[in-house]
Amino acid sequence: MKVAVVKENAPGERRVALVPETVPRLTQAGLDVLVEAGAGDGAWFPDSAYSEAGATIVKTDDLYQAADVILTVTRPNEAQVGKLRAGQTVFGMLSPLIDPELARELAGKNVTAVSLDGLPRTLSRAQGMDALSSQANVAGYKAVLVAATSYGRFFPLLITAAGTARPAKLLVLGTGVAGLQAIGTARRLGAQVSGYDVRPASKGEVESLGATFIELTSVASAAGEGGYARELTEDEKAAQQAELTSHIARHDVVITTAQVPGRRPPLLITEDAVKSMAAGSVIVDMGASALGGNVAGSVAGETVVTENGVTIIGAQNLPSTMPTAASSAYSRNISALLLHMTSDGVLTIDTGDEIQAGVVVTHDGQVVHPAVAKLLDGEGGR
Ligand code: NAD
Repeated sequence: MKVAVVKENAPGERRVALVPETVPRLTQAGLDVLVEAGAGDGAWFPDSAYSEAGATIVKTDDLYQAADVILTVTRPNEAQVGKLRAGQTVFGMLSPLIDPELARELAGKNVTAVSLDGLPRTLSRAQGMDALSSQANVAGYKAVLVAATSYGRFFPLLITAAGTARPAKLLVLGTGVAGLQAIGTARRLGAQVSGYDVRPASKGEVESLGATFIELTSVASAAGEGGYARELTEDEKAAQQAELTSHIARHDVVITTAQVPGRRPPLLITEDAVKSMAAGSVIVDMGASALGGNVAGSVAGETVVTENGVTIIGAQNLPSTMPTAASSAYSRNISALLLHMTSDGVLTIDTGDEIQAGVVVTHDGQVVHPAVAKLLDGEGGR
């Protein structure tokens, strides 16, 4: 079976789906690895490193011609989809719940789609395949560095001959994988860190990292299914925003990571909350997206400075800004999933398997993932 690694085409994307270090894992399992010329350049993996690891470097058209399985980080663009042919399989972070049309298109071409973002994450045997976690980990770390770079003071307590600098007060809103990594990183830089989440279970995790957990009296638990948060009601949202404002005003730096699967990111920092912050404060909105983010006034991919001197950074694709680390982790995730689905060198689709039921989106010309199919049916059928 020929497994091919494509060069990512999304604007600004520097990651690559497979790094040279992982190639032998696949070749030892009897798979041939093809790599599109220049695929690893953005993440500092030259073609020569792939060749030395046992892969074959090929031109774009030859790759699509020969491949049985195509490995990608993000969704293929229109030109790449156009090159896919019946019987091929694409593995990647395809976001089918956000972009179900791609699933319809791939099913129409009889291409099997496997999306790592559907993985059942709480299953312990699937943890090595959890790309959402590995990329959130990179993003949480980088968000703190981005905040520190924009902040005009020190993060740690510094006692020098020229005076004493107090430590920065940093608040992390949303303490899932990215939020916990942000807390750990900010603590290592010496900031005084607090965290808040709607899932009460995260209190112990925040405190175990040496940060203070903020408990709101206005919002009860919003733990949802599978360890995720549920969406708050309109009343809960308003109460949460009002109560959070007084906490936000007391902090110098705020990093927001809040997400609810399949929904627009919740607004946690209102315009009034931004106005309540001191000049020189910094907010990094990791929820920033075209749909809006966790922070009023944040723009995905842009930095905005408000009239009262608050810098709001709309973080976008932070993992891609650390392409080597992010690709190395992703490579281990995607190869673990591929090998889980391969027996005797052949890809074996079996949606009766709990892991495959989560990740296989299209197969045999059908959208087989129930949640994606339901979404498409709601839009007028497949
Ligand atoms: P996520 O990216 O979906 O969301 C980030 C955080 O935002 C979550 O902690 C969520 O509770 C929080 N949030 C949502 N709405 C909020 C609001 N209105 N106010 C404040 N916070 C809000 O989350 P994630 O990082 O993907 O993690 C989700 C869950 O999955 C966590 O419970 C995590 O521990 C769990 N998880 C478990 C495993 C495992 O068991 N191996 C692996 C990965 C993740």
